Amino acid sequence: MKALVIEDSQTGLAVVSQHLERMGILPIAATDGESGVAAFRQHNPDIVLLDVVLPGMDGYEVARRIRAIEQSGEWTPIIFLTARTADTDLVQGITAGGDDYLFKPISEVVLAAKVRAMQRILQMRYSLVVLTRKLDAANQELTRLTSLDGLTGLSNRRHFDETMLREWRRAARYKRPLSLVLVDVDHFKQYNDTYGHLAGDECLKTVASALQAVSRRPSDLVARYGGEEFALVLPETDLSGARSVAEGLCDAIRALQLPHAAAASGHVTISVGVASLMPGNGAGGPQNLIAEADLALYAAKSGGRDRVGFRQVETVAG
Ligand code: GH3
Ligand code: MG
Ligand code: MG
Ligand code: MG
Repeated sequence: MKALVIEDSQTGLAVVSQHLERMGILPIAATDGESGVAAFRQHNPDIVLLDVVLPGMDGYEVARRIRAIEQSGEWTPIIFLTARTADTDLVQGITAGGDDYLFKPISEVVLAAKVRAMQRILQMRYSLVVLTRKLDAANQELTRLTSLDGLTGLSNRRHFDETMLREWRRAARYKRPLSLVLVDVDHFKQYNDTYGHLAGDECLKTVASALQAVSRRPSDLVARYGGEEFALVLPETDLSGARSVAEGLCDAIRALQLPHAAAASGHVTISVGVASLMPGNGAGGPQNLIAEADLALYAAKSGGRDRVGFRQVETVAG
């Protein structure tokens, strides 16, 4: 532990330094305000013992400077050393950023007791900082988890809804295209009926990671929309871009060649609906785009499945 002692009287300095050394604390000496502030910057002491009456800058000003130097959240105890015992002096010192007072002549036992009290506060403060950091990390992890789907690890519906709203507003503000891709696994009820629900779960996980792998832009969001349905939010993407992503999704699932005996192709396939628009200025919201993508998906299903359906929305209220 290091203590910065700012005291212009050589005798006073020597006495306090001896007391500190006997407590196992390393004293750093400064004999005026300017060099005291400089020593504070340089040595980053654990505590400051500060004379009030100093040549040039007085102790109150030194305390103010030290408080200004400290980063937010940092705190170094400052104990004033003074011969002045008036209440107003005490108030002035505390107002300037001091934490306690020692009256001259400095008593070794009182100095030791006050330093110990400050150490105790520092220790508690440190524990609090550590705890706050742990709490922050836990909160971040919690926020992350509440936005994830438990089975697939993709974003969940909640996060999808938030993202859609945010991207819709952004697209409306900057007059940019926004696309939505809805994915539905074909004949998935039969998959469960054939292989069991657990195998169905595994299949959904495999499909989810394949979909995730197709999405390349960091701004794209791949989410589990619900059940065996997935959704991709594609900001800054027009219909042709979104269609090619959608074709990529179908290709990726075909390439997995996951057996599905009850399906005509013999493998797991998906149907995909794509809708794209530029949100305008009127009423409306993300549900417009979701409804269009749903219609496109329905078209893909009724067109024979394992394909992409699409809808370009020309003028849409934003
Ligand atoms: P279609 O080609 O028309 O989409 O047929 P489908 O059988 O996939 O459609 P339907 O909506 O009738 O069935 C969806 C099935 O997905 C029914 C449900 O049991 C299954 N499913 C939904 N969520 C899960 C899940 O988390 N795990 C498993 N294993 N199955 C699920
Ligand atoms: Mg003095
Ligand atoms: Mg479905
Ligand atoms: Mg389905």
